Amino acid sequence: MAYTILDCYTDEPSGLGVPPSLGTYPRYIYGALRKERPYYLTIDDLRNLRKFGTKGINKENEIKTNTRIYNLTRSAEEVSRVLDKTTQLIVVSGINTPGKYLSAVPGTLSEITELIRNTNCRKILTGPAALIGSRLEGGKKPEYFDKTVYDEIEFNYLGINDYDKITPSAEIVEQIPYPIIAELETGKGCDIGKCSFCTEPLKSCVAFREPKDVVAEIKELGKQGVEHFRFGKQTCFYSYKNGDVKEIEKLLKTAAALKPKTLHIDNVNPNKVITGNGEKITKLVVKYCTPGNVAAFGVESFDIEVVKRNKLNTSPNVAYKAIQLINKYGAERGANGMPKLLPGVNLIFGLMNETKQTGVENFNWLKKIYDDGLMLRRINIRQVVPFEGTVLYEEAGTKFIKKNKKRYWSWRKNIRREIDYPMLQRLVPKDTIMKDVRMEIYDGNNTFGRQFGTYPLVVGIKKRLELGKYYDIKVVGHMLRSVIGEPV
Ligand code: SF4
Repeated sequence: MAYTILDCYTDEPSGLGVPPSLGTYPRYIYGALRKERPYYLTIDDLRNLRKFGTKGINKENEIKTNTRIYNLTRSAEEVSRVLDKTTQLIVVSGINTPGKYLSAVPGTLSEITELIRNTNCRKILTGPAALIGSRLEGGKKPEYFDKTVYDEIEFNYLGINDYDKITPSAEIVEQIPYPIIAELETGKGCDIGKCSFCTEPLKSCVAFREPKDVVAEIKELGKQGVEHFRFGKQTCFYSYKNGDVKEIEKLLKTAAALKPKTLHIDNVNPNKVITGNGEKITKLVVKYCTPGNVAAFGVESFDIEVVKRNKLNTSPNVAYKAIQLINKYGAERGANGMPKLLPGVNLIFGLMNETKQTGVENFNWLKKIYDDGLMLRRINIRQVVPFEGTVLYEEAGTKFIKKNKKRYWSWRKNIRREIDYPMLQRLVPKDTIMKDVRMEIYDGNNTFGRQFGTYPLVVGIKKRLELGKYYDIKVVGHMLRSVIGEPV
C-alpha cells in the first residue's frame, strides 16, 4: 500500500494551512500512517505536472510569479512517479474563511476533483471540505463538486479529530523544501458557539490539548528545522484550558524556552481579554511570544442590530475595550521592527439584519479607534459564505449579500483609505527597519516579501531581489495595506 497526502490547503475560523503555513491535517495524517512513510504532495505539484508534463514549469524567467505553481515539493517527474505508485490518495482541503494569499492559491473542490479524476487509486477527501464544504470566494454558496470521484469522504479520517488518537509527526517536513510556519493546535470547539455564520461548533465540542503534547510537537518540528510557530488552531487562545493562567504560562514558557524564531498566536475572543484573567494572559503573550504578534478579534460587525440578530459574541464596546487593553501592553516596538502584540479586527459583510447603517457603524467605530491613538495590525473584511448547518444558512442564506452587495465596494474602500492607510503609517512609520523579510514573489520589476508571522505585513520593493532570501528592509512609503521598502 502506498499512501500520498495531497495538500490542497485549508483555511477555517480556527486554523490555517495555506503555505507558508503547514496545517495540522497533513501532519496528523502523516503521524497516523507514519509506518507506511506516506508521500506529501501539494496541489501546486499536481498543477505543475498536469499543466507542464514531466518537464514541469520553468521558473527562471518568470516576469510575474505564478503563485498557482509555487509551493513545489519535488520535480514534476518525481510527482508523476509518486502518483504512479500511489494506491491511496488522501486529499486535504477546505476553505471556510476565504482570504487572500500572497504566494499560494488553494485548490477549489472542482479543480481538485478534475485533477485527480483519472488517477488510478483509492481517493479519500478529508479536512474541513469533507464536513462543511469549501468556497474560495466569499459572498457565494459553498461549492458544488462531483462526490462520486471519491471512495471515501471523512472529516475524522484516521481519527485526526480525536485528541486521544492523534500522534502528530514532524517527519513530513523532510519532504517540504521551503520554510514553513507550523500551525499548532491547542484546542477546538467554542464555549460560546452561537454566532449565526460560524462552522466551528459544527465540527467539534470543546476540548484542549495538553501543554506537554503541544510542546513535544514544537520540539519534534524544531528537530526538522522548523523555526516558526503559530498557536493558530483554536477558537480563542485566551480560553485555553478555560483561561487557566498557570496552564497558559506553562505552555508559553516551555514553548519560548525552545527559542523559536517566531512564536505567535491567532484568534482571541475580546470578551476574554477584558474579563477574568485577560489582562494577565495579555502580559504573558507579550512576554513569551515574539514581536509582530496579532490577537485576531472576530468582531464581525460593529452594528449592534447585526450583533444581536446573529448572536455575535462581541459588542462594539467590548471590542473597543479589548483593543485598548492589547494596545496598552503590546504596542511597544519589538526587535524585528514590529509592535510586540496588536489586535486585529475581522469584519464580515452579509450577516442578517445588515443595512446601510452597518457600513456607517463599522466605519465610525474604526475611526474612533484610530482617532483615540490606538493601533490595529490589520482589518480583515470578507463576505460571508453561508455553510449548510449554520443558522445563517437556515434563516437567510445569501439574502443580505444580494441586498447589500452594491454597498460593499465603497464600505471596503472607505475603510482601506481612511483607516488602514493612516493606521499603517502609525504602525510602521517611515524609516522603520523591518528585520528578516523573506522575498516571495515578483510582479514585473517589483518584489514582494514578508516576515514570518501570524499576519505578516506585505512589503513591496521596487526592484527584483532574490526570492527566498531574507533582507532587512527600511520602510520608505505606504500603500493601503502594505508598505514600500528598501533593503538596508
Ligand atoms: S465565538 Fe462565534 S465566531 Fe467565534 S468560534 Fe465561537 S461561534 Fe465561532
